[in-house]
Amino acid sequence: MISLIAQLPLARGRVIANAPIGRQTWFGVGGPAEVLFRPADIADLAGFLAALPPAVPVSVIGIGSNLLVRDGGIPGVVIRLGRGFAAVAIDGEDVRAGGAALDRIVAFAAADAGLGGLEFLSGIPGSVGGSLRMNAGAYGREMKHVLVSAIALDRSGKTHAIDSNALGLSYRRSELDPSWVIVEARLHGSPGDCAGIAARLNEIRAAREATQPVRARTGGSTFKNPPGDSAWRLVDAAGCRGLVRGGAIVSQQHANFLINTGTATAADLEDLGEEVRHRVYEHSGIMLEWEIERIGLAGQIKSPSAPFRGKREGLAPAAWEGKVVASQDEALSFSHLTPPLSAPKGQEGDILALRSVNALALSRGCDNGE
Ligand SMILES: Cc1cc2nc3c(=O)[nH]c(=O)nc-3n(C[C@H](O)[C@H](O)[C@H](O)COP(=O)(O)OP(=O)(O)OC[C@H]3O[C@@H](n4cnc5c(N)ncnc54)[C@H](O)[C@@H]3O)c2cc1C
Repeated sequence: MISLIAQLPLARGRVIANAPIGRQTWFGVGGPAEVLFRPADIADLAGFLAALPPAVPVSVIGIGSNLLVRDGGIPGVVIRLGRGFAAVAIDGEDVRAGGAALDRIVAFAAADAGLGGLEFLSGIPGSVGGSLRMNAGAYGREMKHVLVSAIALDRSGKTHAIDSNALGLSYRRSELDPSWVIVEARLHGSPGDCAGIAARLNEIRAAREATQPVRARTGGSTFKNPPGDSAWRLVDAAGCRGLVRGGAIVSQQHANFLINTGTATAADLEDLGEEVRHRVYEHSGIMLEWEIERIGLAGQIKSPSAPFRGKREGLAPAAWEGKVVASQDEALSFSHLTPPLSAPKGQEGDILALRSVNALALSRGCDNGE
């Protein structure tokens, strides 16, 4: 049988067979991509998609901060944008950002230019493409409040300029065709004073540190808030805080976060999430909806958790299987990867870019609080 990679069109970017993509997500678990394509630029991506046999499945991923890749990996071609899509430029009161630009970098670049209203992005550890698809938001603002327009490529490589309204953005969802790749977004800011914007960035950082396990291997909020209620409150009320399955645990700090303690498989995390949904339903009659996207095939573990790089307090998962752990230190102390400079493997280039944005902000006397 001819391998998939042998059937793919030539490209200037990187085409990698059996790429360990699950390990590069925030959870650090899950199987490989059958083929990973990292296009060099828009023309490279367009040419590749145009020549790609229509039967080949295509998935798009960003930083992997809202993804659980299943243990059997992702069949077909996985597209992940990189440096060629990470530019951030100020255009009047708008910020033009590539699909791979980190949300944080967009927030700091806007702050540096004296543009407010985009501070909420500093607390979201995703890319612009992923955040647009998810209509990511925090502290009362979402992408839909700041998005002017986007540019996306369809499965055949054709370019589309899309108005914000046409994306159908609503609570953690968009109506964009799942096979389309967002390559650029135009976001609107409002002129403000540097000190006020910097103070807001600091407030957001402090609030995150106080309420979320930001140094753990997690996918952020696991479930969407049902109308009129909070997912974390329902999970807590159902007694699920600290619930364990294999190497996965429901965060003690924030009951709507699942944590990979260092030994979890994707199946542990997904099973734990399903157990929580079941218990919440039994307790409150409400069936929670997953916010974290689960992709790929269940099954054989081809790539267990990425090697653990931080300190971990003693954990004996087998003994706690299916039980609530009263006081579990889930804080996987990534002391050498302190936010905002932490990122999954493969994002180091973005971190360097973030450092230079911060340096730029400081050199202009507009202290962005980082
Ligand atoms: C500690 C932590 C805190 C978080 N806090 C928040 C929060 O406050 N608010 C919030 O909304 N989310 C939060 N999240 C979730 C996550 O950061 C956001 O959903 C983020 O927008 C996902 O971006 P990503 O690049 O990681 O996308 P991924 O997780 O890689 O992908 C998410 C979805 O976007 C699609 N996608 C990715 N890139 C593209 C692209 N270029 N074109 C088309 N589709 C694409 C993928 O197919 C997938 O459907 C948090 C996550 C963590 C780990």
